[in-house]
Amino acid sequence: MKLIVQKFGGTSVGNIERIRNVATKVKKELDRGNKVAVVVSAMSGVTNQLVAYVNELSPLSTPQAWAEYDQVVSSGEQVTSGLLALCLNEMGVPARSYSGWQIPLKTDAAHGKARIESIDAASMLEEISSGKVVVVAGFQGIDENGRVSTLGRGGSDTSAVALAAALKADRCDIYTDVDGVFTTDPRIVSNARKLDKVAYEEMLEMASLGAKVLQTRSVEMAMNHNVIVQVLNSFNDTKGTLLVKEEDIVEQKRITGIAYSRDDARISLTEIANIPGMSAALFAPLAQAGINVDMIVQNVTEGGKSTDITFTVPKVDVDNAIAVVEKLRDKLQYKSLHADKHVAKISIVGVGMRSHTGIAQTMFEALAEKNINISVISTSEIKISVLIAEEYTELAVRSLHAAFELEKA
Ligand code: ADP
Ligand code: ASP
Ligand code: MG
Repeated sequence: MKLIVQKFGGTSVGNIERIRNVATKVKKELDRGNKVAVVVSAMSGVTNQLVAYVNELSPLSTPQAWAEYDQVVSSGEQVTSGLLALCLNEMGVPARSYSGWQIPLKTDAAHGKARIESIDAASMLEEISSGKVVVVAGFQGIDENGRVSTLGRGGSDTSAVALAAALKADRCDIYTDVDGVFTTDPRIVSNARKLDKVAYEEMLEMASLGAKVLQTRSVEMAMNHNVIVQVLNSFNDTKGTLLVKEEDIVEQKRITGIAYSRDDARISLTEIANIPGMSAALFAPLAQAGINVDMIVQNVTEGGKSTDITFTVPKVDVDNAIAVVEKLRDKLQYKSLHADKHVAKISIVGVGMRSHTGIAQTMFEALAEKNINISVISTSEIKISVLIAEEYTELAVRSLHAAFELEKA
């Protein structure tokens, strides 16, 4: 007998009929002779609505305000956990719901983006061994002060993987509204191909570069705790995508997938003095302000006297970043400061990059052919990211998908 964690996302529990569909999926797993722990998201749209209510009332400028944010936005998952438990019981499947604090699933106190510290599996294991299905509200926990916390948007994936690790489950099945992990977002590229397998490392890059099918931390957690994760469609029975170790992918293609993100903004400073210490003088204060700088490019201007520096920060932090940089004007003596929120980061990802050549060339040529200008480039061993104007996001993703022939198996 196996223990399976099943996680159902917002669309999958979007109305009562869909909750019934989820209950049927749970029952099927039980009928296979397995035990089941379920993690649910809020019904689709609910978390956004709750966030909007909070934003109407507060600029969220204090930790106290963020604690209240968590009290509000965590409620969506509480509703679905109760509804699904009710539904299962009505079908004759014994079940009980858990909020994060009832487990307890303990987190740090970073409200709005809390990290899981521990999960006490004892109560859930007792219920499971007595023949019940446990239905856990995803996305939430409790901090050391007894206050409800949430794990960041998309955090139910992380709840599910963490629960699978704590329960020593045999597998964690993430049910969503598409057939699995695709070569790129199937809502942008209609001939995107579902991947049967994807390496943890690739999934980690794809998620952190914008593919929201799994929350980045859930992939990190799966890697660290050796959790077997599968991504599946809750609306059909097709085979999903299995996360695997890199060596289990026999034939490595040139690239595996393409991700995009509109979450960054670009800041450019011109004519900074070309002397040692200027980058440190710029980036240290940004780090101190808690601003995460991602891509950076620096070029020396003609004559070598000065340099231009361009970098990206999360869009939500751009006003803060500008304030920090403006305070440095005397020190850096830059000539102009320019910020642009209308940018997109397009990334190609794949472990095959370690062994294939000419990949950057294919990428840059495909973009050039469509007249898409690249303003910043950054690379790692298994990814290349470029920053472009936001209006070209979809064109860039489609062109790259075609250039790398990702539609072909
Ligand atoms: P859930 O509510 O089930 O957690 P999400 O909306 O968070 O679902 O994530 C699923 C969505 O992720 C899909 O509907 C799809 O549009 C998007 N997505 C982005 N990139 C990919 C990709 N490479 N593969 C599959 N889905 C992707
Ligand atoms: N409901 C939360 C969100 O929308 C968590 C999740 O769905 O994973 O971000
Ligand atoms: Mg999600």
